[in-house]
Amino acid sequence: MKSTWEDRTFSDEIDERVYSSRLLGKDPNLVLHGGGNTSVKRVEKDHAGREISVLRVKGSGSDLATIEPRGFTGLRMDDLLPAGKIEAMTDEQMVDYLKKSMVNPSEPSPSVESFLHAFIPYKFVDHSHSDAILSLTNTDLGEEKIAGILSNVIVLPYVPPGFKLAREILKRISDVDSGIEGIVLSKHGLFTFGDSAKESYERHVRIVDQAEKYQP
Ligand code: ZN
Repeated sequence: MKSTWEDRTFSDEIDERVYSSRLLGKDPNLVLHGGGNTSVKRVEKDHAGREISVLRVKGSGSDLATIEPRGFTGLRMDDLLPAGKIEAMTDEQMVDYLKKSMVNPSEPSPSVESFLHAFIPYKFVDHSHSDAILSLTNTDLGEEKIAGILSNVIVLPYVPPGFKLAREILKRISDVDSGIEGIVLSKHGLFTFGDSAKESYERHVRIVDQAEKYQP
């Protein structure tokens, strides 16, 4: 996988978010297995004029390849972060919790992977179900070997998608500081993150490229 990033000026963070989401969405090897999703955290004004921290995450009904600014649903970070203290949630409870955290209830339903985005303490987060990452984690290489092949990643064992997976990420997030550029979810996909959309995107490209080049 090669970076197709072209430097440009963005009108705001959503514009920046839209640009690299489309780059990821246009790569069929990344989004073949059901979409993938992206997000950005930023400060917005709520209906009462208060400044609040908002997670803008891909909502249902949008395709990353053609996503528009309105395809990103706003969730209040002050509502999402306390969920880290909750031990368990069923899928129904999680969907209900996300619904109650929406800045504007008339926006599209947020991704069911929203908590994973919220718990990763970086401004931009990119998630794909990359073929190359799936192939690598479907082998019998252990997590440590895979981490060695991809370098600067944390590799998590398979955990079914849902709140439990978000909790696993939260538990491992303190390891993220020391030069870690991505989190590999075995048999699921890849998360990368960064302070800019470009940083997160290029980490995604670098890690997927490494996985593609791996020869057993
Ligand atoms: Zn996923």
